[in-house]
Amino acid sequence: MIEIRVDMNRCQHYGQCVFEAPNVFQLNAQDRLEWKATADDAELSNVEAAIDICPMQAISLAE
Ligand code: SF4
Repeated sequence: MIEIRVDMNRCQHYGQCVFEAPNVFQLNAQDRLEWKATADDAELSNVEAAIDICPMQAISLAE
């Protein structure tokens, strides 16, 4: 299990993370980011790609 954090003070809801890890990150009807705080280990590489692509460096994994 991985634990995902998003700093909503940084996130600008651009949605790049949604393309990299659609099982974890979504934009809701108001175009606001929603995400799962925990995900299966199988999502790790997708979440790491989302971390790399986020222009605001808003996403991190809990240690
Ligand atoms: S890529 Fe980063 S800034 Fe964009 S919606 Fe995802 S967390 Fe927010």
